[in-house]
Amino acid sequence: MSMGKVWFVGAGPGDPDLITVKGRDLIAGADAILFAGSLVSQAATCWAPAHCEIRDSRGMTLEQIIRWLIGHGREHRQVVRLQTGDPSLYGALIEMVQPLDAAGIEIGIVPGVSSAFAAAAAGVESLTLPEITQTVIFSRIEGRTPMPAGESLAELASHHSTLCLFLSITLLDKLQEGLLAAGWAEDAPVLVVQKAGWPGEERIVRGPLMEIRERCQAARITNQAMIIASPALGARGWPGLKKSRLYDKGFSHRFRQAKG
Ligand code: SAH
Repeated sequence: MSMGKVWFVGAGPGDPDLITVKGRDLIAGADAILFAGSLVSQAATCWAPAHCEIRDSRGMTLEQIIRWLIGHGREHRQVVRLQTGDPSLYGALIEMVQPLDAAGIEIGIVPGVSSAFAAAAAGVESLTLPEITQTVIFSRIEGRTPMPAGESLAELASHHSTLCLFLSITLLDKLQEGLLAAGWAEDAPVLVVQKAGWPGEERIVRGPLMEIRERCQAARITNQAMIIASPALGARGWPGLKKSRLYDKGFSHRFRQAKG
């Protein structure tokens, strides 16, 4: 029996134009697509060929998803599992890969634009800034899903680096608690972006740490939102910005000799 290949494709944050060219080409050649919820449905329907079977996995259990992927992987040449953002972040990826490995079905993964990057783009923010922070932490706030030891928000925030928090928009009280416990100021800047990368639907809320919760409640932002807390936020308006050495005229590197 000839087996097909199951591709896990990052669809990007929602705008179908933010999928990679490789991801779009795989969709265009797919026999069957299983997409993960409403955020990525457009990419599937936009680029899929007419004969392609398209199914939403919302409401399916992991077992049903696996059975579908194995069944279609055996039946078809090219199957796409379309996921939001990048498949390596909060995508239950390995839980799906293991049974496919066991079934002898080849898999491939195509990265996608994570909503963390779409949110930074929406806010015209840089997640790293010279002498401010050179580190980005992708995490979530503990809710129903327990966090491993050493990964409480207060512990992660103690680095005072950029925090991109997924799946946490209903936990803004814990954001305040965790950042204050780590010594962040009450007026530390926070950015929340809902539906980042969705033309016409993207919503941006900014606020000091102690007000961000009320502002999101007032704007009724309760889902599909990225939280970014970072000492680098708002740098677009800073007068005394420290520049990176990459373009510094006194700094030599492989492609340029320092002058003066
Ligand atoms: N793999 C995805 C994340 C999936 S977890 C990625 O790389 O983006 C789902 C969480 O991602 C949501 O709770 C929300 O925090 C965030 N998210 C996904 N799409 C988003 C979007 N368009 N705008 C803002 N946040 C988004």
